[in-house]
Amino acid sequence: MRIVTEVELLKYRCTKIIATIGPASNSPAMIRELIGAGVNVFRVNMSHGTHEVHGATIRMIREAAAELGSATAVLADLCGPKIRTGRFADGAVELVAGEEVVITTEDVPGDVRRIPSQYRELPRDVRPGDRVLLNDGAAELIVETVSGEHVRCQVVAGGVVGDHKGINLPDSVVSAPSLTDKDRIDAAFALAAGVDFLALSFVRSAADIRELRALVAAHDPAEGAVGIIAKIEKPEALEHGQAIIEEADGIMVARGDLGVELNPEQVPLAQAQLIMRARALNKPVIVATQMLESMISNPRPTRAEVSDVAFAVASGADAVMLSGESAVGSFPLAAVRMMDRVARQTESYHWHAGLEFSHAPGNPGEGVPFGDAIADATAKVVSDVRARAVVVISTQGTTAATISAARPSAPVIAVSGCARTCRRMSLMWGMIPHQVEAVGSENPNHIARRAARDLGLAASGEYIVMVRGFHADPAWNSPSITLLQV
Ligand code: PGA
Ligand code: MN
Repeated sequence: MRIVTEVELLKYRCTKIIATIGPASNSPAMIRELIGAGVNVFRVNMSHGTHEVHGATIRMIREAAAELGSATAVLADLCGPKIRTGRFADGAVELVAGEEVVITTEDVPGDVRRIPSQYRELPRDVRPGDRVLLNDGAAELIVETVSGEHVRCQVVAGGVVGDHKGINLPDSVVSAPSLTDKDRIDAAFALAAGVDFLALSFVRSAADIRELRALVAAHDPAEGAVGIIAKIEKPEALEHGQAIIEEADGIMVARGDLGVELNPEQVPLAQAQLIMRARALNKPVIVATQMLESMISNPRPTRAEVSDVAFAVASGADAVMLSGESAVGSFPLAAVRMMDRVARQTESYHWHAGLEFSHAPGNPGEGVPFGDAIADATAKVVSDVRARAVVVISTQGTTAATISAARPSAPVIAVSGCARTCRRMSLMWGMIPHQVEAVGSENPNHIARRAARDLGLAASGEYIVMVRGFHADPAWNSPSITLLQV
């Protein structure tokens, strides 16, 4: 048996950490500490809070990152067509199995017989026999009849439901657009605030991503400046998984809603397949929700939660995410430190044991795409000469994404002259974003050697591998792999 000890831990963590910002964490001091503890990307959740508060939070993140010299990125999470309950006269009710309850789109206070919802199309979207899941599946109803604005249901599994809790309709075709009016307003705000990623909830098809991309293009002329993350949390998204991954710049396995829309036991296998598919297409994949859930109120996680994070890391996810743990929990810092420890332990074991997070196999007989072949060759050279670091010179981040997906066994210093590109690379496995003044004017060999030395990754005489020359235009696309001695 091999247990990695404290002194054998690798210096750099490859799996990235995303922390959701909320009342427990939106102060300058806490944001600085969270970055210090290892947060690479902050998530601003548009389901809660005002633009004023979010704007202030984003400014705090930018200031803290500038102070600490880190390429911390900001991801704004758009709510999508999330259906919610309205308000209850007493704040919450307990539904009892076997009883009847009416969901109404009328604006009335709710009680144990009547649940209001502002989603106007609800009576037209559901049919008798469809399931209605309330409050993350805490209560389950079956639709009996629909008349006018009222949907009469029977309670199948009782539970507590309160104000503005989620309503999931796993058996119905929800007619609400994926990009709601609120999302358009929130996206415009987030783009003006200069976020690095936009995540879209309840994506159903690749067309949803194209719609958001068109909206981004209308606001932000800089090509590829904002990454679009598709949140996979509906059965339709799994059906169209391949097309969605191809269209998006990355995906999130949004296990909270996915576990309500599917059966919970189907989620781990969906997660494993999504990670494989995303990696095969060189797109970052985030595993999210309830990763260290008990740390919302406890300073220590359960063993099962630790295993969950370790499993996501071992499956080669690009990032693991904290939600309530860092947004509203009592121990945001402890949660980030725990995630960091679990990831480094797991990665270090892989490294010492010579296990690889190897590239997902392509289709037999079809060959390997050009860029992937270079990336695989890079990973092979790195492990053959025991290189201490890879240096990637990337202007748009495409080279970095390609090299990252091959999961080379040494850390990748991703050099770019562009601050935005550096922040985009903060979500990619193994990338250490390194901003330099100008990339074009200096001998790249010098840039690479100096970067490796500055970051303390290579000493005199040791090998590093440099990759550069990828270009979107085939006429200019001439990638090269250079082996350098420091
Ligand atoms: P949410 O998305 O936190 O915005 O609901 C993540 C999930 O559903 O897991
Ligand atoms: Mn969700």
